[in-house]
Amino acid sequence: MEIISASEVEKYTYCPLSWWLSRKGVKGKGKEFKEGIGRHHEIEKNIETIKKEEEKLFSSEFMIAVLSTAATILSLVGVGIYLSQQKEFESAVTMIVSAIWLVSAAVFMVVALKSTQLARSTRDIVNLPDGTIEYVSGEGVEDLSSKKTGLIGKPDYVIHVHGSFVPIEIKTGRVPRGPLFSHIIQLTAYCVLVEEKYGKVEYGMLMYGNQIYRIRLTDELKTTLFKKLDKMREAFKTDIVHRNHNRPGKCRHCSRRNACPESLV
Ligand code: SF4
Repeated sequence: MEIISASEVEKYTYCPLSWWLSRKGVKGKGKEFKEGIGRHHEIEKNIETIKKEEEKLFSSEFMIAVLSTAATILSLVGVGIYLSQQKEFESAVTMIVSAIWLVSAAVFMVVALKSTQLARSTRDIVNLPDGTIEYVSGEGVEDLSSKKTGLIGKPDYVIHVHGSFVPIEIKTGRVPRGPLFSHIIQLTAYCVLVEEKYGKVEYGMLMYGNQIYRIRLTDELKTTLFKKLDKMREAFKTDIVHRNHNRPGKCRHCSRRNACPESLV
């Protein structure tokens, strides 16, 4: 079975010829295309920062709980020693150790506060929805893959919220009036990949700037995706792929129009 990536599915849905040209090595061109790549790297870096700071926050909170509980127990032991056995030296030692642990807990509290602030402000910058970050794409990060469908791909990130995993795809550049069908199908491919790798997926999200669309993972969308995969695999056999629309606007926004033999503009 030929391996097909989720972003290939997006290109194919936009225009089969655009997908075919990219498959033949024609790179996307244009200001919008380049800006999109740069913006994506920036967002990936911000999400990595949030993930790192939230992990630091979690371990700091754990240390605060452990150290403050241990310090409280130890100081009670110290008081007990003093009251029951009148051993001033032993009691003083336990009190000093307890105080050191409390100071350490305070240091972790400062770290936790800094991490909270940084994670919150970065979440606001990228408009990240609530939830624990499970996966962030980027260089060196492995593709998710599905043996059943032959799909691979890297959603921008995956969050875990209320027992369900949510793949999120960020779209840079012009903001459409509603979610584009090619993006919905790409997101469906990510939902299928995340479902196989992590577990339950109820919906995914498409983000265009501050505009966020929640796309429910339905059987209809899955069927549409699988039909597209079949057609793409058919194209590998026939080696015949053409434009499937008559919309000059599509060609105008196509990053491969300069190399396209069927461009309408
Ligand atoms: S220029 Fe038009 S026909 Fe050619 S690949 Fe792009 S969208 Fe398709």
